Amino acid sequence: MKMSSNIEKKVLNLIDESKDDIVALMQKLVQIPSYTGNEAEIGEFLVEEVKKFDLDDVRIEQETIGRPNVMARYKGTSGKPSITTYAHYDTVPTGDIAKWTRGPFSGTIEDGKIYGRGVSDHKFPIPPLLFAIKAIKDAGVRLKGDIVFAFVCDEERGGHRGMKHVVDEGHCDTDHLLYSGGGGDGDKMGIAANGRAYYRITVKGHTEHTGRNDQGINAAVKAMKLIARLQELREDVNNRRDKFKSGDFEIEGKGRLSINLVNAFTTGNNVPDLCTVQIDRRFIPQVESFESTLAEVQAIVDKLKKEDPEFDAYVEFVPDRWFYPSVSVIDPVLVEALQKSASKVLGITPEINNAVGGGSSDHGWFNLKYPDRSFVSYGCGRGGNTHTYDEFTTVDGLIDNTKIYALFFMNLLGIA
Ligand SMILES: [Zn+2]
Repeated sequence: MKMSSNIEKKVLNLIDESKDDIVALMQKLVQIPSYTGNEAEIGEFLVEEVKKFDLDDVRIEQETIGRPNVMARYKGTSGKPSITTYAHYDTVPTGDIAKWTRGPFSGTIEDGKIYGRGVSDHKFPIPPLLFAIKAIKDAGVRLKGDIVFAFVCDEERGGHRGMKHVVDEGHCDTDHLLYSGGGGDGDKMGIAANGRAYYRITVKGHTEHTGRNDQGINAAVKAMKLIARLQELREDVNNRRDKFKSGDFEIEGKGRLSINLVNAFTTGNNVPDLCTVQIDRRFIPQVESFESTLAEVQAIVDKLKKEDPEFDAYVEFVPDRWFYPSVSVIDPVLVEALQKSASKVLGITPEINNAVGGGSSDHGWFNLKYPDRSFVSYGCGRGGNTHTYDEFTTVDGLIDNTKIYALFFMNLLGIA
């Protein structure tokens, strides 16, 4: 059966009627702190919530005890086509709590904005995805295709316990993937994302009592030179704009480098003999690689060693924190289903673009396992301040997003 405008109207009206419930679930999710590595409580809460939506196979899948991923399935009449939709519920820490003007776990609503850590990155899509399928079911509509819902942990560290695990175990073996992005205005859909590598450089010194500090080699002071050179590399990397391709379609990529962790060790009355400097390097698909980005850092360390015989350091790739760079094949069926749904709700047709600016995300795991299958990243939460103070999303964005996902599921998966 084709989607009639009556069915469409019915579904969209049901979503309008669910507005308070959508917002309430969003607030509850934000009120549970869930830093990466501490997702047990939110996972247990969410699995019980998902059970209320009368889906199939609602369960927790975990690679590590206490690191839950909440999975569910909507079974269509034929199971074809199928799509995985997902969001991650782990978050970064709050940073300096005094800089938040609303409590980071308050879920405060003011002027149409909902505030809290993780509300936009990336708890945002969870209520829209669940209420989209609820509206479809409540309208008496049966879909032909299947939807796999994956609400996962560990994304901020690379998704190795989250999306990578559920993909590798075969739980997301679907024709497509929708990464339900949260921040934008809904004018872009992403089909690619940067790779990510953390490089840790350990600078070694020689420890001595503070009283004999002139006989020591202060690793922190030696690291200052390294930090200065890395900062120069950062200028260069951040200005990189290189094109990469999906088929004939060209996308402009952005390189990224940031020095994010610096630690010096021994104790307060000793010269430090170790200082670690860790960088977060986001690299452009097809243009840069794990090898090329590591070589740039190694070259800096090698040069410093030549210049200063006292400079001693080694570079490590930090395991379990990397993201595979991802580029999707462009599938007109997926793209058009989304464009049609978004233009109905927002009056704009989203353009194909890079997925998360200079960022990375764990749809790369799907792309790595199923390189010939298409994914798209899309959301219109109109949120902001992700990874900083006063993170927010918008009530209107939540409702619009719910409507777009509902139409998208019907357009893509077909009505039985
Ligand atoms: Zn994030």
